[in-house]
Amino acid sequence: MPSTAHAPSSLIQVERVADLRTQVRAWRAAGERIAFVPTMGNLHAGHLSLVREGRARAERVVASIFVNPLQFGPSEDLDAYPRTLDADRRQLDATGCDLLFTPGVSEIYPRGQDTQTRVEVPGISDILCGASRPGHFVGVATVVCKLLNMVQPDVALFGEKDFQQLLVIRRLVEDLALPVEIVGVPIARESDGLAMSSRNGYLTPEERGLAPALYRVLNATADALRAGEPVERAEQAGLEALAMAGLRPDYLSVRRAEDLAPACAGDRSLVILAAAYLGRARLIDNLRVDLD
Ligand code: AMP
Repeated sequence: MPSTAHAPSSLIQVERVADLRTQVRAWRAAGERIAFVPTMGNLHAGHLSLVREGRARAERVVASIFVNPLQFGPSEDLDAYPRTLDADRRQLDATGCDLLFTPGVSEIYPRGQDTQTRVEVPGISDILCGASRPGHFVGVATVVCKLLNMVQPDVALFGEKDFQQLLVIRRLVEDLALPVEIVGVPIARESDGLAMSSRNGYLTPEERGLAPALYRVLNATADALRAGEPVERAEQAGLEALAMAGLRPDYLSVRRAEDLAPACAGDRSLVILAAAYLGRARLIDNLRVDLD
């Protein structure tokens, strides 16, 4: 065989819940564990690190690509969201994903979005990104709950890039007693520190040059906290530094890592979360800080 030959594709793709269930049931009957990686597609190395983590934890990995209209606000980028199914399929196949679930909107919301039962995780859904994007986390919690019920995985993997989303999902799984283990996976970054994101593709070359400031400012804020700077002053300096770097900050906030409550004196396990607009993109990032 020539050395350039590729292994034949072993990735199964299904669009219907019934077909997904048939395949997952067969794997389960063979005693295999199932890992699940939900995505909105336009895959990058961050998504693939979730797939790899899934492979390490289960015999079979299911990924989904579904651009969920329920989590987009009326003036957000639902229609413009990048859709790159062929490239995504190739990457998933090469990373050892076993099944790709690509439902249409009517497969997920057969009665329409307005009459869909919704899952709301109160409190944590209304702050930070939830304050700027009303209804966003209801959309996320609803679709993740549905997808978990459709796939019925043993373990599901989510990126720490979306730190607030990860906490919303942990809460919903706990509150609704869903029988699945939720695993958070560290943020994959470009070599200049920018957190990988499908939305980075919206950046012009000039904006792309400015974007790493977000991670730099998070690090500077962490240094300030470690040096004993009061939280409010560190936050204010961070916001100013973002604006100086040419970004339009939405928020930069130091929170308790466990539940995103505002950080108080004495809290040691913290996370700095930030969101900022840059051109057409709204970038988010976060950095854990453990004070000792
Ligand atoms: P998305 O396609 O943006 O909905 O993301 C799908 C999953 O990939 C979510 O669990 C994200 O948190 C995760 N993810 C996105 N970007 C990254 C990244 N840079 N590093 C790690 N995980 C990520």
